[in-house]
Amino acid sequence: MVIKFLPGCLPLPIALYIHVPFCIKKCFYCDFTSYPVDPGAVEAYLDALSQEINLYGADLPEGEKVLSSLFVGGGTPTCLPAKRIKEVLEDVRSGFKLLPGCEVTVEANPGTVDLDGLLELKAAGVNRLSIGVQSFQDSLLQTLGRIHSAGEAVKAVRLAREAGFSNLNLDLIFGIPGQTIDDWRETLAIAVDLAPEHIAAYGLQIEKGTPLERAVARGELETCPEETELSMFLAAIDYLPTHAYKHYEISNFARPGRECIHNLVYWLNRPYLGLGPAAHSCLRNERFNNESLLEKYLEKLSREEYPVETRVKLSGEIQMSDTMLLGLRLTGGVDLDSFYRGFGKKVEDIYRKELAGLMEMKLIELGGGFLRLTRRGLPVANYVFRQFV
Ligand code: SF4
Repeated sequence: MVIKFLPGCLPLPIALYIHVPFCIKKCFYCDFTSYPVDPGAVEAYLDALSQEINLYGADLPEGEKVLSSLFVGGGTPTCLPAKRIKEVLEDVRSGFKLLPGCEVTVEANPGTVDLDGLLELKAAGVNRLSIGVQSFQDSLLQTLGRIHSAGEAVKAVRLAREAGFSNLNLDLIFGIPGQTIDDWRETLAIAVDLAPEHIAAYGLQIEKGTPLERAVARGELETCPEETELSMFLAAIDYLPTHAYKHYEISNFARPGRECIHNLVYWLNRPYLGLGPAAHSCLRNERFNNESLLEKYLEKLSREEYPVETRVKLSGEIQMSDTMLLGLRLTGGVDLDSFYRGFGKKVEDIYRKELAGLMEMKLIELGGGFLRLTRRGLPVANYVFRQFV
């Protein structure tokens, strides 16, 4: 189902994100907030999360409790028993109103799924699974410190289909140390053979303080050369559309009508609420993020306080800038008319100088009422975005 977002039609349904901060084992490249699964910590987190859902459920006006999507991510939600995820969804249903056809996604690690658990998630109303495959080469999965093999990823997709899921995303990573262009092409081909409805293909970021960064610094691993990474990106954007996956966002590809509703809310700069440690929200012209330390998150909720760490009021300038750099992530681009209706100003008037420079470099183009990245601009999107900050 495709939910249309009508500019100027308020209040808008919101996207709800729930962060599950537990994993079986930390991957070598990961800097997300996640802790090793520990039964005591999991129970304390679930109690606090339930309280946080109730707080928002009680305080938000009815019009702001309507959900177009719910995304349970992490961390590894599937390292919790499916029954517990079902209870979280029940709490959400009692505090919020899910629109008919609401997209309900759970992130799944192939090393943590079985048929019974998937059947339980399906019965609980989960209608989309996002499976963290990353690569179909075992040696690269080991480089990344993933807990599963390529075979287990294939099995996870089969089990998901057997459990009745008809909307699957596979997450893939390119630019892994030691990965060749042929490895990447093979991963893309296997992913296409598995026929998921959606594929996300991200370039690996080597984050500070991760074991992967240290291994690179010690000379044990070599980073993927920039030109190889560029070839991998181009291979994805050329290959996937020939197999009926529309390239609709820099890193995302979908079969017709299967774009991720939840992520579209972010890219269209619409309101979203994030619950759980380190979750981010953008609501009522304010951006806020939760305490990232589990201990602090639990402590605030034990005092019946919102577990918010920082809040930033969004000025008109920030909102316009966000709309530009998020909207340019979409291959369709920024809707100029919708921008004008939202801000009462024309993109061409506010960013005249920036647009002229980027157009001269052929990194962006105007057409059909939209401003978008060109093929030349896609690989250097971050440079383009900086011009609007
Ligand atoms: S499974 Fe995801 S969240 Fe957990 S450690 Fe690995 S990359 Fe990080």
